[in-house]
Amino acid sequence: MALAAPLFRTFTYRVPDGIAVPIAPGTRVLVSFRNRPEIGICLGATVPPDGITLKPIQAVVDDVPSLPASLLHTGKWIADWYAAPLGLTLRSMLPTALTSAKAPAPASRTQRMVRIVMDLPSLLQREQTFARAKQQRVVYDLLEAQGGAAPLESLRIQANCSAGVFTAMAKRGLVDIRDEVQQRDPFADRAGTLPPPNPSEAQREAVRAILAGDPGQVFLLHGVTGSGKTLVYIEVLRAVLQQRDKTAIVLVPEIALTSQTVDRFRGAFGDDVAVLHSGLSDGERLDAWQSLRRGERRIAVGARSALFAPLERVGVVIVDEEHESSYKQSETPRYHAREAAIVRARAEGAVVVLGSATPSLETWERADRGQAIRLTLPDRAAGAQLPPVTVVDMRVELKQAVKERNPNAPFDETLGVFSKSLLVALEQRLVRGEQSLLLLNRRGYSSFMQCNACGDVPVCPHCSISLTYHRVPEMLVCHYCQHQQPVPAVCAQCSADTMRRRGLGTQQVERVLSERFPEARIARMDVDTTSGKWAHTQILDRVGRGEVDILLGTQMIAKGLDFPNVTLVGVVDADTGLNLPDFRAAERTFQLVSQVAGRAGRGPKGGDVIIQTRMPNSHAIRHAITHDVTGFVREELGARRMPAYPPFVSIANVLVSGLDQAATAATAVAAASWVQRLVERQGLRDLVFVGPAPCPIDRIKDRWRWHFLLKSSQPKLMTRVARYIAERCPVPKMHELRLTVDRDPVSL
Ligand code: ADP
Ligand code: ZN
Repeated sequence: MALAAPLFRTFTYRVPDGIAVPIAPGTRVLVSFRNRPEIGICLGATVPPDGITLKPIQAVVDDVPSLPASLLHTGKWIADWYAAPLGLTLRSMLPTALTSAKAPAPASRTQRMVRIVMDLPSLLQREQTFARAKQQRVVYDLLEAQGGAAPLESLRIQANCSAGVFTAMAKRGLVDIRDEVQQRDPFADRAGTLPPPNPSEAQREAVRAILAGDPGQVFLLHGVTGSGKTLVYIEVLRAVLQQRDKTAIVLVPEIALTSQTVDRFRGAFGDDVAVLHSGLSDGERLDAWQSLRRGERRIAVGARSALFAPLERVGVVIVDEEHESSYKQSETPRYHAREAAIVRARAEGAVVVLGSATPSLETWERADRGQAIRLTLPDRAAGAQLPPVTVVDMRVELKQAVKERNPNAPFDETLGVFSKSLLVALEQRLVRGEQSLLLLNRRGYSSFMQCNACGDVPVCPHCSISLTYHRVPEMLVCHYCQHQQPVPAVCAQCSADTMRRRGLGTQQVERVLSERFPEARIARMDVDTTSGKWAHTQILDRVGRGEVDILLGTQMIAKGLDFPNVTLVGVVDADTGLNLPDFRAAERTFQLVSQVAGRAGRGPKGGDVIIQTRMPNSHAIRHAITHDVTGFVREELGARRMPAYPPFVSIANVLVSGLDQAATAATAVAAASWVQRLVERQGLRDLVFVGPAPCPIDRIKDRWRWHFLLKSSQPKLMTRVARYIAERCPVPKMHELRLTVDRDPVSL
């Protein structure tokens, strides 16, 4: 059996008399582990070695296995591929309420509901029916006003009557009273959006191809931004549910940011949809899980972990915006939901649809190799056009502005933030009552502070990273550990009062904007404005209702938004991510710029995109301007061959971290030579070794960080080596030293 301990082994328990055998794999059982009650997951029967007394299982918790066979299979694959302990992996696949032996699963709250079962459409009928029953009439009218059903208790209070009134109404066959499980899902209150009625020929062609796919077939649905991928998903789901009587899983990058897409699924399938979002409480999550397990809902929509929805007979798994890096989990088990989705789908005999306007290189290459079928939606839906993109070289722009500047005029703060053409375009939108989106992928006010006299930059006391200046409230903040400290009046190094703010953040852009366009309604969307559970959705709903003229934000605003009145998208600084020390820097920038550009011109009014950059010749920017995915991919794939990076090799990042700088470095060096010896001893020629070296940010939250990289063109070899390192590589038990293996990392 598997127990949720960070150990690479399984455990054997005895089945005592009185418990029926065999216990199906995937069943939860209660056992004593390290003298504590724990929930274990049964994996199967084994023959115990002689001479060992086994502890007994205390109870079987499930009637039917909590993890059906396909999920157990997926869990084993994840544990194996990502070198994670199986017990921890299986636990992370179940709702918390089901894996804790201490807290009993919260009972689903049931409540007594009253429903109208006899319609009384005409006034005359009503007067006759309730001639001698005034209170019943009040209850009936109240019920009708609430959609025909309401909780008995709240009705009783509203009508100010006794419970006997309801019993009498039930006896007359007017209403039905029963206990119903109360759904606590806040998403249930949102109105769905109806999908467009008629798929285009291109959409229909894609749907046909997907439905004709063999079990386990992977499709890449490459549709330009605004091509109507959502309608393709909906039509596929409709066929899978209605004609084939199967179920479906839909993965989206982040529910809060994709509420528009989720509303469309709810509009099409109503209560068949369970929305699994991070705002759910443990009890709500359990409700949703159980309704899927019982087959009451047949579509699971959610981020990463919706992949583990306990559905049976899954017919299709859809991964929307498959290129998003949020599909990779950043803690154990470090799985990529796209890859795990393919494994689960194979086990279910389901087809997989990976949708994106800017596919990941991994998926693109998969299609090139024939392991996925590429389907293309080359045009925008309903005759809309891709927006023209203009590039402004900010180096030229600044030179010009400085030359033209009147030396006697007060300093113009918009200088260096907005080019002339972007300002003019924004102004036009305001005049015409149209909406604009502005992207700056850096939150805070300015990126850092620096002393003009000695050049000192305040850094976080816990991380190797400069502190970001925030204006409201005025603080220096670390974006890695949330450390905050007051803004220094004088330089900590040289005591000069010459501290200056450098670099641009969303707060500053917001301020500059509001001074320039005092009449504009501006909304800002970044981590700082969206801490509340529903904050994202509230901001997006306001944009949808036309209550916002300019939506300014970080990469959050680039994800899937579909607002027809947005006719301008401005990228304030396209270069923020280009120079990061990561082999995916260009790919990310291309995706971000293309995606945000794709928010413009979705309605009949068309739209424009203006991109400000200091690197107009980088291939990420050049190809984003022309919406040329193929061109970008060709160039980028070329760059990934020498030195080799994914998708041409499989990589694993081995991270060593600890509280002591010297010990961390020494451990990393020792671990690296341990691996090196392994490689030599086993003659593993197809394993390339890079490092060890300090990480690009070599200290986070007080922990020093070193890493080395393994590359191999043989995934199987990588699986073996990664697992061997995770399991066996010796790490001294001091200074909280830790070694983690991150297979297929999305950031280094
Ligand atoms: P994507 O996800 O591919 O960027 P969406 O699914 O958001 O695109 O669709 C873009 C817009 O086009 C949406 O407003 C959608 O309602 C509309 N749309 C999609 N398909 C059709 C169609 N066949 N007819 C009319 N409008 C459509
Ligand atoms: Zn910090």
